[in-house]
Amino acid sequence: MAMPPPAKRVKGDTPDSVIEGKRLEHEDGLSAEELFSKSNGYTYQDYIILPGYISFDAANVTLRSQATKTITLNVPFISSPMDTVTEAQMAIHMALYGGLGIIHCNNTIEEQCNHVRRVKRFENGFILDPFTVSPQTTLEYLDEIKFKHGFSGCPVTEDGKLKSKLVGIVTTRDHDFIKDRSTLVSEVMTKEVVTATQGCTLEEANTILKNSKKGKLPVVDKDGCLVAAISRKDLRKNRDFPLASKDAGKRLLVGASIHTRPEDKARAAALVEAGVDVIVIDSSQGNSTYQMEMIRHLKSAYPSLQVVGGNVVCVAQAKNLIEWGVDGLRIGMGSGSICTTQEVMAVGRPQATSVYHVSKYAREHGVPCWADGGISNIGKIAKALACGASCVMMGSLLAGTEEAPGDYFYKDGVRLKHYRGMGSIDAMQSKGGSADRYFSEQAAVRVAQGVSGSVVDKGSLSRYLPYLTTGLKHSLQDMGVRSVKDLFEAVYDGSLRFELRTASAQSEGAVHDLHSYQRKDFG
Ligand code: GDP
Ligand code: GDP
Ligand code: 5GP
Repeated sequence: MAMPPPAKRVKGDTPDSVIEGKRLEHEDGLSAEELFSKSNGYTYQDYIILPGYISFDAANVTLRSQATKTITLNVPFISSPMDTVTEAQMAIHMALYGGLGIIHCNNTIEEQCNHVRRVKRFENGFILDPFTVSPQTTLEYLDEIKFKHGFSGCPVTEDGKLKSKLVGIVTTRDHDFIKDRSTLVSEVMTKEVVTATQGCTLEEANTILKNSKKGKLPVVDKDGCLVAAISRKDLRKNRDFPLASKDAGKRLLVGASIHTRPEDKARAAALVEAGVDVIVIDSSQGNSTYQMEMIRHLKSAYPSLQVVGGNVVCVAQAKNLIEWGVDGLRIGMGSGSICTTQEVMAVGRPQATSVYHVSKYAREHGVPCWADGGISNIGKIAKALACGASCVMMGSLLAGTEEAPGDYFYKDGVRLKHYRGMGSIDAMQSKGGSADRYFSEQAAVRVAQGVSGSVVDKGSLSRYLPYLTTGLKHSLQDMGVRSVKDLFEAVYDGSLRFELRTASAQSEGAVHDLHSYQRKDFG
């Protein structure tokens, strides 16, 4: 019988039995390779991870992980491009807490780009394209800006444009009690403005802003013309979100999905113009000539844009997409909570097996993978990472949060939000129409690959994401690994051990034998 592989899991102050290079005398379970080389396809539910050795605090576990070839996230969470999951609010919060949101494309190009722009504008070091008004602008127009964009302070320039002479500043406090909204800005604006000079560092500008106690600091060039602005709210946000996912200009990262029709090239061009960082090609079966054509087009037209392809579940599919040039892969076919693909099409693959095999192959080619679908709790996030996924993509888990699109409603006394598959008849018939992800527009009959339903209220992401993050750190601690990087090492050197669970083991692992109980996932 083959000897078990050497144990390398925990380094440093560890007991003899787990010192690097020494075989474990009492090694239990299976390595990932042994588990997934069996002929069965496994889901996350089918196995459990055996505990490791803890010699560190859960708070010190780092969750940094690659999302694409060039983008690293502090937290490996990505929200699904679905119309009941990711629009600007979701994407902003995902990025603030260290993850990434992918704006769905079941909308017009303009709508999708507006969501992208709202994310990119949300947090800025320097706001390089501040909205400006002229002295002749009316208060009515300021109200409109506030309604549309949420900010109320505007620099005033001679001709109302950027790069023109700064003549004042107007904020809510200057006009909120003025009844006549046709009043001109020139009558209410403050003319003596505290400014920073072009070329100063963000830190210097922030100091001026703090000392001036104002809400906004216009930045002017040597001739007094407006070139940028910084906002006090951004200072506060910087303090509150140390893990935020940002680009080189300190703007939040955001992704957006497209399909593979020829028209989607125009959508991609507009998204790039709006500042998108990642484009996800949304297809339930990504191994196609359409996807090849789109990946090649995107990579040659926008070489620095990160392109994530998919979905795939087999190595042969992944191999093609990697050759065509993707920067990341989305894994999953039929594993989503709202999804009926496996039932209707008889095609797909159990998710854990898909994630293990595809991630292992993609890793050899430097391509990070996203485990997409079927993530219903922290344990499943941990299991997906333990199969080799760099990030998890979540739909149902996030759809009940305040930041997901749509309003709450009550049913049988429970507070719910709608959640629907993008291949559900509902979604395919809605205005943007996602039919092309699943079927050609010309199809006479549309066969659904998803359902439309509801999920329970999860509260705000500002509490829910820290709960998921903290829970995941504890999970890695139990496995005895300090980081996602160490986790992958343990997966591939065989020191992370797994065990299959029988049906009764699975019910033993859930709450059982109680008359009734109340569940509170965090407090
Ligand atoms: P206000 O105090 O209501 O005017 O809001 P802030 O100016 O503090 O802006 C709120 C958010 O909108 C901040 O994160 C700004 O960075 C962001 N923002 C993005 N683009 C602009 C812009 O063109 N002008 C202003 N004023 N804020 C912008
Ligand atoms: P808020 O966003 O409404 O809280 O406004 P600010 O804190 O930016 O500004 C408060 C008041 O100070 C307004 O009447 C401004 O017009 C006035 N103000 C005077 N000088 C400045 C300046 O240099 N910068 C800003 N932002 N406001 C100024
Ligand atoms: P969940 O996190 O809810 O389990 O799954 C979300 C994932 O399901 C999405 O990211 C997407 O890949 C997939 N998905 C979304 N809508 C549909 C659908 O209607 N049919 C299928 N087959 N998959 C869907």
